[in-house]
Amino acid sequence: MFFSEVIGQYSIKRQLIRQAEENRISHAQLFLGSDDTGALALALAYARYIHCKDRGQDDACGHCPSCMKYDKLIHPDIHFFFPSAPNDEHKDREKVSSKLFTDRWRDLLLNSPYFTYYQWLQKLGVENKQAIINATDCNDIIRHLGMKSYESPYKIILIYMAEKIYHSAAPKLLKVLEEPPPNTVFLMISENKDRVLHTILSRTQLVRLPVPDEAAVLQALTDRYQIEEKRAKQIAFLSGGSITEALRLSQHDEEQLADFESFREWMRHCYKNDAAHILRWVEATAKGGRERQKSFLLYGLKIFRMALLHNYKLHEMVRLEGEESKFIHGFSPFINHKNTIQVVEAFDEAIMHLERNANARILFTDLSFQLVKQLQVNVG
Ligand SMILES: [Zn+2]
Repeated sequence: MFFSEVIGQYSIKRQLIRQAEENRISHAQLFLGSDDTGALALALAYARYIHCKDRGQDDACGHCPSCMKYDKLIHPDIHFFFPSAPNDEHKDREKVSSKLFTDRWRDLLLNSPYFTYYQWLQKLGVENKQAIINATDCNDIIRHLGMKSYESPYKIILIYMAEKIYHSAAPKLLKVLEEPPPNTVFLMISENKDRVLHTILSRTQLVRLPVPDEAAVLQALTDRYQIEEKRAKQIAFLSGGSITEALRLSQHDEEQLADFESFREWMRHCYKNDAAHILRWVEATAKGGRERQKSFLLYGLKIFRMALLHNYKLHEMVRLEGEESKFIHGFSPFINHKNTIQVVEAFDEAIMHLERNANARILFTDLSFQLVKQLQVNVG
């Protein structure tokens, strides 16, 4: 990852470059922003720049021995820490930590640092579990800090999702954050400042990242991901400016197709008030991972929004094609001013309950019967 590959974030890139040039790199920084801000991409580009042996004014050189190692993410002076959980391969929670999953981490990161936390859990094969940065990770961080750096004066500890540092493991870190060994740089990434332990927060410099605008996303899709302009515009629009969603749409059309087919089936059963089929659908859906269920409900909300726009004749804003477009056309009469608020609220509430580990079977059953009721509210 180079600064030139980070979407948007121009003024922050300049600040970071200046810090490195003036040799006043802050020893602990927290890059705060959703997946869509590219916080991880920026931290990675910054790490490459710090380690580069032949820095340019705007970016790392790309050809020095250090940059060559960054191309494969094998530079010996950057250490990655991220949430993990036992999976099918490594079942013992006691033995699980970041270093066990470095290959998977590199693999995902080398594909693109614009991924969602859910995609990371999927990569680990633990989408139903709570992943954490545990005590072994914190011990490993301290062990790395106790050793000499190999090639660069700077030793970088990159922590993805600092809010997942397990509270009982954190005290170990506080001392090194407060008085780090010389030339140690902590680059932490977090989506949610309120969930980061206050004791960690107070020892870091906060770098808040805004979400890049739709134009920047569109440019990235056409220039960097070589997506044809017409399709790129459609993706940029559908993703509402979200780069991770845009990449998901461009790379994982299958998941969206599965969401669509499942949603269409669900709405048909609800409209017919077909309890047997509804329960069978709930049973199948409840088996999926929690984050997958959440992204399905978010997809549902998007369809409701599209149906509403269709009703208000804002056709130019409903950029759908093929089956999705046909479905919206037929479905939109059932979404109207009498039920929109209720439906959206029911979905929002369901998403909130999923985040709090509610029982998926009960949740989807309840939501289904609310939909049965709401879809029978006629326009008039
Ligand atoms: Zn270089």
